Amino acid sequence: MAYDYDLFVIGGGSGGVRAARIAAETGARVGLAEEYRMGGTCVIRGCVPKKLMVYASAYPKTFKEARAYGWSFDEPVYDHAKAMSAIADQVSYLSGLYMKGQKAAGVTVFEERAEFLNPHSLLLRKTGQTITAEKILIAVGGAPYIPTPSDMPGVEKTITSNEIFQMRTLPRHILIAGGGYIAVEFAHILNGLGAQTTLVYRKDKVLRGFDEDVRTYVQEGLSEAGINFIGHNIIDKIEQSGEAELPLRVHLSQGETLNVSDVMLAIGRRPNTAGLNCDKAGIELDAAGAIKVDAYSRTNVENIWAVGDVTNRVQLTPVAIREGHAFADTEFGGTPHTFDHSDIATAVFTQPEVGTVGLTESEARETYGEVDIYQSRFRPLKNLVSGSEERAFIKLIVRASDQRVLGVHIISPHAAEMIQLAGVAVKMGATKQDFDRTCAVHPSIAEELVTMRHKVR
Ligand code: FAD
Ligand code: NDP
Repeated sequence: MAYDYDLFVIGGGSGGVRAARIAAETGARVGLAEEYRMGGTCVIRGCVPKKLMVYASAYPKTFKEARAYGWSFDEPVYDHAKAMSAIADQVSYLSGLYMKGQKAAGVTVFEERAEFLNPHSLLLRKTGQTITAEKILIAVGGAPYIPTPSDMPGVEKTITSNEIFQMRTLPRHILIAGGGYIAVEFAHILNGLGAQTTLVYRKDKVLRGFDEDVRTYVQEGLSEAGINFIGHNIIDKIEQSGEAELPLRVHLSQGETLNVSDVMLAIGRRPNTAGLNCDKAGIELDAAGAIKVDAYSRTNVENIWAVGDVTNRVQLTPVAIREGHAFADTEFGGTPHTFDHSDIATAVFTQPEVGTVGLTESEARETYGEVDIYQSRFRPLKNLVSGSEERAFIKLIVRASDQRVLGVHIISPHAAEMIQLAGVAVKMGATKQDFDRTCAVHPSIAEELVTMRHKVR
């Protein structure tokens, strides 16, 4: 049978656009459907506008430090509408570049939703046309998890990370629920911008899954930054308070109530498989609705693959990109390979940032038994004059048997930049001796990576 396309990609986000472009560049006939805006979560309502908001929120600290360094100026004034509109302009510009990139590569883009009719056919929702493809890639990403009104009465009054980018007035007092990446990043962003910020988490220490020392540091940093942390609680219900400036009354599970202006849920994300009609193509999902795939991102249906957040492996943009690229190389480029999910460097854009790669101390002990720990907590040089009490933290986890560095964890300004480079060393299998024989860059925070001589345990 002759198909309309050699490859049809559902979803124009990080994974989808990379796979479509690489496949099209081999001469394949490629189509792609995007139901919202080209660029996906990362570009439109994730990494990019988030990082720009991080920059906006860091200025008050810079202003304070500048005064210590001899500068004087009138009290700075922040205009949220102006900042968010400047950010939105750049998001639109980048989204346009993604569209151009697809077209330049020869991909036919459909600006509408696609749903399965059978393993080789898709219905395009807006125009109602049916298209057929030999191979189909699902790259539909995920969306914020929102409980039902019976689980959380008043849930319709909440927002998620999707809506935070649309707000043009800074919340007076925002309550953020959750303790993962999104919750802690936005707690710092909104607090930095000047909103009174409360973080409500169901346990006692945020960033589950990260190294314990990192979690402790980030936890302490929340209150040091002025964020009100309430642990061991979830939201029971939300109602109107009757107060004009703080119109929402939030009831927490331990009985406490708070009046706030906004409630943001950051309690995880779910794969976008609802309504995709995967059953019509016979595609297997796991209990969470994620598409089950093998190392080559192949589903149980032989002509269908899935990459990125919809597979619920590691929900990060560079991972979706690499999975999409590996798929296209394998199926269209004649260079079959898989993406190696080990030692993925990642950053949490708290203030200061967390950068981490490799194993946590407990994972390393569990896997290898004996490990050597090197760590340092110190006041960066800049803070001597600025007066900031903020400390940097660097930790190396080293396998005792052969001195291989298994994990690097950094908390400091620019930790994201540092961990990208430390990630190269870890991926190459560097040993503690390799770190030691690398000459320091002085004065810098990163020099601590190569100057720690004494193990702490
Ligand atoms: P997506 O980028 O979500 O793309 C999926 C696309 O498919 C969407 O555009 C959607 O509209 C479209 N779609 C869905 N269903 C259909 C359909 N049926 N038909 C047509 N189109 C459809 N990661 C990082 O690495 N660094 C960060 O700093 C970072 N910050 C983040 C901040 C926030 C607030 C959020 C929410 C996420 C962040 N992430 C970050 C995670 C990152 O955004 C995702 O891992 C990444 O976007 C996943 O890419 P993807 O291709 O799987 O899906
Ligand atoms: P995470 O999975 O990171 O965190 C979800 C948080 O919500 C956890 O603290 C979890 O608690 C809590 N939670 C889950 N369910 C409930 C519930 N029913 N009631 C109350 N609390 C609940 O998800 P995020 O939404 O923060 O982010 C999604 C993913 O996006 C991240 O995992 C990351 O991969 C990616 N991302 C990456 C960023 C980056 O690279 N800088 C930035 C933002 C997102 P518990 O810990 O107890 O399970």
